Amino acid sequence: MSEYQYPYQDGLFVLNELTGLEQICKNAGLDEFAEGLAEAVLDEAGKLGSEQLAPLNSMGDQLGATIQANQVTQTDGFCEAYQQFCAGGWPSLAHNPEFGGQGLPVTLAAAVNEIWQSANLAWSLCPLLTQGSIEAIAAHGNEQLQLHYLPKLISGEWTGTMNLTEPDAGTDLAALKTRAVPEGDHYRITGQKIFITWGDHQMTDNIVHLVLARLPDAPPGVKGISLFVVPKFLLDDNGEQTGQRNDVYAVALEHKLGIHGSPTCVMSFGDDEGAIGYLVGEENNGLACMFTMMNDARQGVGLQGLAISERAYQHALGYAKERVQGTLRDGSRITIIKHPDVRRMLLQMKSGTQAMRALIYMAKAESDHYNNATDEQVKAKHKARTALLTPIVKGWVTELAQEMTYLGVQVHGGMGFIEETGAAQHFRDARILTIYEGTTGIQALDLIGRKTLVDKGAALEDLLSEIQADLAQVSYPELQDMVEAVQEALNQAREAKQWVLEVGSKDGLAAGSASVSFMMLMGYLCGGWLMVKSANIAQAKLVQPEADASFLQSKIVCARFFVEQLLPRTAGLLKALQAGGDTVMQLAEDQF
Ligand SMILES: Cc1cc2nc3c(=O)[nH]c(=O)nc-3n(C[C@H](O)[C@H](O)[C@H](O)COP(=O)(O)OP(=O)(O)OC[C@H]3O[C@@H](n4cnc5c(N)ncnc54)[C@H](O)[C@@H]3O)c2cc1C
Repeated sequence: MSEYQYPYQDGLFVLNELTGLEQICKNAGLDEFAEGLAEAVLDEAGKLGSEQLAPLNSMGDQLGATIQANQVTQTDGFCEAYQQFCAGGWPSLAHNPEFGGQGLPVTLAAAVNEIWQSANLAWSLCPLLTQGSIEAIAAHGNEQLQLHYLPKLISGEWTGTMNLTEPDAGTDLAALKTRAVPEGDHYRITGQKIFITWGDHQMTDNIVHLVLARLPDAPPGVKGISLFVVPKFLLDDNGEQTGQRNDVYAVALEHKLGIHGSPTCVMSFGDDEGAIGYLVGEENNGLACMFTMMNDARQGVGLQGLAISERAYQHALGYAKERVQGTLRDGSRITIIKHPDVRRMLLQMKSGTQAMRALIYMAKAESDHYNNATDEQVKAKHKARTALLTPIVKGWVTELAQEMTYLGVQVHGGMGFIEETGAAQHFRDARILTIYEGTTGIQALDLIGRKTLVDKGAALEDLLSEIQADLAQVSYPELQDMVEAVQEALNQAREAKQWVLEVGSKDGLAAGSASVSFMMLMGYLCGGWLMVKSANIAQAKLVQPEADASFLQSKIVCARFFVEQLLPRTAGLLKALQAGGDTVMQLAEDQF
């Protein structure tokens, strides 16, 4: 089975050339770190990822987690890996120094997180959800909650979970029934949550559950949801753990298609006296608070799509270079990487993954630009861009990840279908990514509704104008065919936007039917834009004496491949979108 290595050249190219990480560091007052920071950090993270986490990936798949007497035990080796992760200071990388964080840019943290997720997707879900809990408490928790919980979550001493889903409340959180009854300075929580990732484990002394629940007098629907912190073990007035168990337990584990190493728990709150919970933010404003956590997690899941695609690519590449199948006229036998169709599949994976990386790191850089900006207008621009890109990052990247991991199996031929090769695990693990943190359909509705119709396309137009301006910067004659192709996709995106504003705004069924096509079109356009932008930079750097010509030429080839083979999908997506909802809605239910 092939090993995993972070793709340093491409990762550093995106960080240094596309996101402007050095400038981000300088703007954040981290001048001393600006030069060489990314190399040093990624080098260390890469060692932990390749040497400790990656070798545990298939063990997690085969052994999974177990539950006995309400106690979940994770796969052997996961706990030791977690301890090393904390000892290296990795959980605190981009968090607030006021609570023990290192205050480094989130753009850099995205690259580091790619390493954990490529190395071991199931294990890395635990820090991913902890990160979301930190964001929610930091943004909405009162001073006491912040003091009691943030330092230990940021150091990794405790982990966090996100408890939204119930048997009757999945996508539609308005239907949730978990109750919270006020009692002095806290609330008593009762109810059942399902599908809770890393809801219990033995890797840390405490687990901090963020739970959505309803007050007795709450208004119906999403306006009556509140957010609570519910620790597994209660704390005293000084924030120290008392050893007293809170009334929240994992009662079962789900059997799943993939990510077996990540325990997916049924959680029961308040079977006895009621679990003690503390309000985060205002009563009945929980969904807004939870959105802070979900938006962070949505970008995190997009990053998982990139990470699993990279892992599947490396796996397939290793196999394609070794597997001998086919004979030349002179009788010599060849490895499958010599076959044009295998090369097509590998290039599809390589260029698709590079496009995902460029988009995700760029989207993360928007958060750093937002944090570093002082001007309110500039802040608002970066906030709007982050909001616009989040559903594209989650929706488009995770959908494309299905194709990438499918191709990873295909390159292996029959051995891809056989579990011992490991390619099948990536394919199975990737399948959840288009489902949790809001399905693809929900991301698409978010993009077309809240992110496009609400501001009448302003944030989208801002992005499209930037793409237009970037295309004008490409002056090399040998890249003009690529510029023309992206220009065509950009024109199609403008047509799609116009259709949404004119037709979609009046006809909800048409908008709902076309939303995924709209989102996928924007994703491919962003991919094409960033690949051509990368090719332009690579072309310019080729003349520099110290340039790595082989890498830079491969960047240009990958950009051309993306533009030739993946970008033309925008034309079909535009047509599908313009067909609207008439046919989709035509059949009566009994005709299905
Ligand atoms: C392995 C795993 C881990 C998870 N981890 C967590 C976790 O840690 N915390 C947590 O709270 N939850 C978690 N979930 C739950 C996950 O977020 C939900 O499964 C997901 O949001 C979808 O909800 P659902 O399963 O109820 O599907 P449903 O809401 O029943 O959706 C079924 C289908 O209908 C579509 N659909 C539903 N409503 C609409 C609509 N309004 N418009 C268009 N299409 C719609 C969906 O897109 C989907 O295709 C996890 C789930 C799994 C499987």
